[in-house]
Order: sequence, then C-alpha cells, then structure tokens
Amino acid sequence: MIQKPKGTYDVYGEKGTALLEIEKLMKVLMENYGYEYVRTPIFEASELFHRGVGETSDIVTKETYDFKDRGDRNMTLRPEGTAGVVRSYIENKRYAEAKQPIKTWYYGTMYRYERPQSGRYRELSQFGVEVFGSTDPILDAEVISIPVHFYQLLGLKGIKVKMNSLGDKESREAYRNALLDYFKPYVDSLCEDCKARYEKNPLRILDCKVDHDKECMKHAPKMTDFLNEESKEHFRKVQEYLNYLEIPFEVDPNIVRGLDYYTHTVFEVEADIEGFGSNNVLCGGGRYDHLIEQLDGPATPGVGFAMGIERLLIALDLEGIHFHEEGLDCYVVPMDEEYKKEAFSMTNALRMSGFKSDMDPMNRNLKSNFKQADYRNAHFIMLVGEEEIKGEFVTIKDNHTKEESKVKINEIVDFLDECLERCEDHED
Ligand code: ATP
Ligand code: MG
Repeated sequence: MIQKPKGTYDVYGEKGTALLEIEKLMKVLMENYGYEYVRTPIFEASELFHRGVGETSDIVTKETYDFKDRGDRNMTLRPEGTAGVVRSYIENKRYAEAKQPIKTWYYGTMYRYERPQSGRYRELSQFGVEVFGSTDPILDAEVISIPVHFYQLLGLKGIKVKMNSLGDKESREAYRNALLDYFKPYVDSLCEDCKARYEKNPLRILDCKVDHDKECMKHAPKMTDFLNEESKEHFRKVQEYLNYLEIPFEVDPNIVRGLDYYTHTVFEVEADIEGFGSNNVLCGGGRYDHLIEQLDGPATPGVGFAMGIERLLIALDLEGIHFHEEGLDCYVVPMDEEYKKEAFSMTNALRMSGFKSDMDPMNRNLKSNFKQADYRNAHFIMLVGEEEIKGEFVTIKDNHTKEESKVKINEIVDFLDECLERCEDHED
C-alpha cells in the first residue's frame, strides 16, 4: 500500500469541517480589517529564500525542499510566505499604487524538511499578513491585534502574547557587538550551529533550541538595554497602542525570532494550554524595514505575522472547541427504482433553491433510507412515489417534529423555508 509522505496528513471528516470554518472566519476577519488577499506560487527561485529568509536561519540551512526543474533552474518549495509576498510586491511595483499602505493577507501550504512531531509537519498551512509602506508603530500594534482577535473569534482562551524589540540598524549593531564580546569565552561550549551563528548572526544564538538552557544564555546582554532613543520610542508606542486596545502582552527579551530580516518589534503568540507540548508557538511575526531593499525593491518598511493552522487545530481541540458538519436540509427518497429520475430532478431543484439536499442513489428500502437520512443529520425526508407523482405532491417528513405533510410540488420551497425559519426562531 502506498502511504502518505512522512510529515504530511490527510484532511477529512471533522478536521475538514474545522478547517473550512477557520478559512471562512479568516476571510471575514480580513475583510473587516480592510486587507486584500494575495496568492503567490508554491515554488520560487531558491535564491529568493536564501536572500529573503536569510542564510543563517534554520529554515534555509536545514529545512528547504530544493529541486532542479527540467530547465536546470534551482527551485525551492516555499518554506514561508513573506519572501514570496515581498517578491510579488516588488515585481508588480505595488509601491507605486495610489492606496498606501498596502495591506495583504495570504493563506496556503508551506514546506519544511523537519523532524515530524506533534505540531511540526513537513507540509504545513500558514495564514499571514504583510503590510508595506509605513513605519508607524500603530501598524505593529494592528498586526499583533489580528491573531489575538482571530483566536478570540474562534473561542480560544489560552493564549499569551510575548514581544520584544530588536531596534533599528544602529541599535542592532551595538547589541551585536555586545553579544560578540559576551559570548567570546563561551563559543567553544556552544553547539555547532551556534558557532556558525557567532560568526554570521550572533543574535540568533539566543533563539537556539539546543543551547537554550545553558547558564551563559541566562546572563547574556539584553537587547532592550541597547535600543537607541528612536527605537525605544517606537517600542513604547507599540505598547501604548496595545494597551489602548486592551490586549495583554509580556515583554520577553529572549524573543528574537528565527528569521534574519526583523527590525524593531518581534512577537509571538503562545498557546498557554495544559498538555500542549513544546511546539506551542501558534503565531510569530514582526517588523522588517529592510527586507524589501534586500530583495532589490525600493526602501520600504514592512510588518507582518504568520500563524500555523495545524497548531491552532491542536489548541482548539485541547480547549474542547469543535466544529460539527451541518446536516442536510432534505434527504430525498425514491419509493421505488422507477422514481429515481423524479427524485433526482427533485433533489436538483432543491439544491438550486438553496437547500442542502441529497438522495439515495442505491435503491435501498425505506428502512435503510431513513437510517441514511439519520446519518446525514437530515432535517426533512422527502418521499417520491407513484401516488406523489400522480397527485403532483410529495410527502415530507420533518425529522425534528416527526410530522408528516403532503406538500404540492410548487409549494415545496415555501413550505421548507417556513419550517426552517420556525426552527431557527425556536433555536434563538
Ligand atoms: P518553531 O520555532 O516552532 O520552529 P518557527 O520560528 O520556525 O517555529 P515561523 O517560521 O515563524 O515558525 O512560522 C510561523 C508559525 O508557523 C509558527 O509559529 C508555527 O505555528 C507554525 N509552524 C512553523 N513550522 C511549522 C511546522 N513544521 N509544522 C507546523 N507548523 C509550523
Ligand atoms: Mg522552525
């Protein structure tokens, strides 16, 4: 038997319902925030990720799916969404559009060659936003507020926002030098990756999952002590705006994020739920004021986040938040094989009038049909037989009230509408 590739999963049943519900909510949320949808290719030139995500990030050094296409080009399955969205922003000269800033959102699968475990897959789905064209800290706060609001809408309670500032170029440079001095005597005791990071991007040592608990990590200089006045002011304003929105957050100097491109605000939203395990970061993001230049665009600031949908599903499950498939409005039953055509056309008419409908395609007897209608959670069963065809009516059985009615063919829509409305009023 052929099995699915390691680190991937199939979606069906309740998980499918949950995913579609999450996607629906995503769309409504982003409409409310005034963001536009963008879609970029699942594969891009490898160089985009090397230059965009950064040569020292785990994503690029260890996790990409690289391949050569038949034209001998180096391609990579996208490991994250930002690089592609930025490329598209530059390539389509969106910086020249009249409406600014450009606020976009995306949703799609990403590919990372990781060791599969709970909350860590090789094909993963991310929902994210990218905002281009403004350095205003109000946008950092807005971008942080979106996932918080989204989780709230879904009913998720156990979340924690942690953030930090990496400052502007000058502050980062000062901090980098302080880290080089500080870690100098410890370099030999750090993991191989960190030895390389020490040379290329010492900030990322703080993000190391291997050296995380070492004593020297605890006393490392803190970024917040190296922020210049401008960077401090930016960070202060982000916090002030979040306070205005009454969004609780924690400043955590250890948040540096795994990607090389961040400046100023970086943040993570953690699942604070018992039993979640160690892969508990639901969402991460921040400001990247030099990435667009780095990818050959005009100097343009940006800020965004990406959230993992698989980890969100785990969180919802742990908090007992479930999504059930809605049942059918109507299950149509031909009383005999010879009325199958009429039942089919009736089912079709119901569907076109907006009723969720299906029929028995397999000539089952009445008893098994009623069972199928139950499995499908059908509100009504519609019987189509000889008597019905002759008299131009159908028999409709209401599974909720157990009432049976004879309804004229041309009155079916009104009848069903009325019953469903009454039922909704009752539920309210
Ligand atoms: P981690 O530190 O857990 O590896 P990351 O820093 O690599 O996460 P990002 O690149 O910021 O994660 O991606 C944003 C979000 O996407 C993460 O917070 C997480 O929810 C999700 N995510 C990242 N990698 C995976 C994966 N392999 N499987 C499932 N979800 C993932
Ligand atoms: Mg990772």
